[in-house]
Amino acid sequence: MDDQVLFFDDETSICSDQPVWRVLAIDDDVDFQRATAFALSELEVLGGRIELQQAFSYREASMLLAEQRDIALIFLDVVMETDDAGLRLVKALREVIGNAETRVVLLTGEPGMAPVQEVMRDYDINDYWTKSELTAERLLTVLTAGVRGYSQLRAVARARRGLQMIVESSNALFCSKNTRELSSKILSEIASLLDLQAEGIVCVRSEEGDAQSAPAVRIVSASGRFFRAIDGNLDSLDDTDVAAALRRSLQEQQTLRLETCTVLFFSRFQAGADYACYVATERPLDDTELELLKVFSASISRGLYNVALFSRLEEMAYQDDLLKVPNRNALIRMLDLTLKGESKDEWVLVLIDIDNFSGANTAFGTGYGDFILGLVAKKLRDAFDGSVLIARVRDDLFAILGPESQVRAADIVALFRRHNRPYELGQVHSLSSVTLRLADFTGTASVALQDARLTLKQAKQLGHDQHAVYDPHLQGAHAESYRMLLALRDAVEAGRISIELQPQLDLRTHKVIGVEALARWRQADGRMVPPVLFIPLAEATGYILPLGDLLMRLALQAAKQLAEAGYPQIRVAINVSAPQLLQRDFIERFTSHLQAAGVRPQQVEVEITESVAMRTFETVCEQLTALRQMGVTVAIDDFGTGFSSLSYLRLLPADRLKIDRSFVEEIGELADQQMIAEAVIQIAARVGMQVIAEGVETQQQADWILQHGCLEAQGYLFAKPMPCADLLTWLASWPGRQA
Ligand code: C2E
Ligand code: CA
Ligand code: CA
Repeated sequence: MDDQVLFFDDETSICSDQPVWRVLAIDDDVDFQRATAFALSELEVLGGRIELQQAFSYREASMLLAEQRDIALIFLDVVMETDDAGLRLVKALREVIGNAETRVVLLTGEPGMAPVQEVMRDYDINDYWTKSELTAERLLTVLTAGVRGYSQLRAVARARRGLQMIVESSNALFCSKNTRELSSKILSEIASLLDLQAEGIVCVRSEEGDAQSAPAVRIVSASGRFFRAIDGNLDSLDDTDVAAALRRSLQEQQTLRLETCTVLFFSRFQAGADYACYVATERPLDDTELELLKVFSASISRGLYNVALFSRLEEMAYQDDLLKVPNRNALIRMLDLTLKGESKDEWVLVLIDIDNFSGANTAFGTGYGDFILGLVAKKLRDAFDGSVLIARVRDDLFAILGPESQVRAADIVALFRRHNRPYELGQVHSLSSVTLRLADFTGTASVALQDARLTLKQAKQLGHDQHAVYDPHLQGAHAESYRMLLALRDAVEAGRISIELQPQLDLRTHKVIGVEALARWRQADGRMVPPVLFIPLAEATGYILPLGDLLMRLALQAAKQLAEAGYPQIRVAINVSAPQLLQRDFIERFTSHLQAAGVRPQQVEVEITESVAMRTFETVCEQLTALRQMGVTVAIDDFGTGFSSLSYLRLLPADRLKIDRSFVEEIGELADQQMIAEAVIQIAARVGMQVIAEGVETQQQADWILQHGCLEAQGYLFAKPMPCADLLTWLASWPGRQA
């Protein structure tokens, strides 16, 4: 890529300020100094003039050297005040002043005083001559070699500094995500690279443009005195010379190196579009600077290309592939901006959903479905101006976001009704919508969309052609549920879900016959979330499947612990929700969990609620039968709260009915014949099931149920639910101990 950046030398316009090479002669020999001055006057070396400075003592010389770093060459008499004073000076030059570039030529009066080779090398001394050997001709050679060495070293040093800056600058470029930001960085980085005041322009030539008119050139960034030109057209730039230079660079597709400026060119092949970058230099750049700029230009090209790529990616990320309209991401982004904006209260979000779209898709094929979607998108786009966002959220769900004055659900519906000729293909016969006024909403964009969709979904349950308006009073509840679901998922992952076990007793012997495993959620701050809050939420969202799996494993672990602690006869009752039980592979899962835990099926009871048992009777019966065949017992929970007919109950493969806590509560408050508890006990007897009362809190309740033929009970009277370890302790001290 580097090679493709063309550097163009505009010979006519190069103004070459002749370089000046400064030479310092250090010698206390006045005659020699005079002769040197004469020999060097009028000399030209490597296209530059020689400027001689003279020092007659080391003191004088060291002060000069400390101040001036741009001395190309020193002629140094080795022996002056002391024998080693000359070498001490060079040592100071290199090590104290830190000047590695100035070249040094040693001179001596008499032959045979040559310094040793290591000293020459250590102090980077170029040459050594006796004064008598240094003829005018030889002086020129020595001088030329010295100046050349100096200028090369200086170029290397500058290049190294420059390259370091390029690395840093390039990193800065690669973070930019849009052309505007990148261009302004380009200008400032070039300025610091070349040590200039930032004054420049970056412009881009648009892709369009026909044969007659030249394509427009837009100024994407401008600094210094051009600052106001930003975003304008190059034609309207005040400085016509600058505009002409930029246009010429774009025209000739190359970089221009002019007297007071440089115009860098980046072609569309490297940068995604044709760019020209004007940098005011106020002087021609030297070779090193140009080299650096060339290297940096490669980075700039890559930066521009990245930005182009990024915007293309963005297009992909924010556009619906099929319909070429904004997608869900675009909607969320716009919704987010609108919700934070000032005119939020005047805006509405309308979602429309084509009724029975999936039916049409199935009947006529997806090609037909796509065709319909295209028609809907077109009709919506034609109906609104650019201030209204039309997006496809997913499938056949479209969103319209705009000011309420323009976006009204009734109008949208009418839009489709107006042309409605029944039985004509390619017509949307009916659609449903929801309108959400942003004024009614305080949450985030994605929650707004989610809440609107929920409202639409609920509305559609009533049939076709439904037009709902989002009710802000529901918002709190939805948002709250959503947060809780996320928190629940985190809790599962963080291991904050556990179980507690509540003993179930035989009322005659007070022996513990079983325990019920109950889910517990302890939040990070120690507070508990009751299962009546999170279990129904998990059931409604499907999250009960992974959660139920976890709870089942925890319950089976507890069963294993009980068996190992010497209570293999204590059954562990596990609550199983409808979605769990109705999974096709429920039995397989259950069996593999049992095996993994090493628990006998006889030690496990499954509790399902009465309403579940009756809802999908046949499937449930199959599953329960399979469980019972394994040896697992089945209990019907909350019995009496549903409306099971006795004939169904008779068919239900269950071992035990649980009298709901609410009926146990009535004991002692109502007359016997009014109490459901009594009826439940009688029903159980009639269908040949055992019966257990839950929520027994008083001795009176316990006495009553035993009298009426219910032999088993569970409740605070005996024990509250507790962690497995506590249960083991409790069991050890319980008077009705098993042994
Ligand atoms: P449930 O299955 O009817 O559980 C009995 C509930 O009554 C438990 O409440 C238990 O702590 C409470 N309880 C027991 N004895 C007494 C008592 O003497 N007095 C009073 N006032 N309450 C008593 P918990 O643990 O809050 O569970 C509530 C419901 O959450 C459960 O009702 C069950 O429907 C559901 N649940 C709990 N754990 C699970 C689970 O692991 N899986 C599933 N699917 N549901 C669960
Ligand atoms: Ca239960
Ligand atoms: Ca219950």
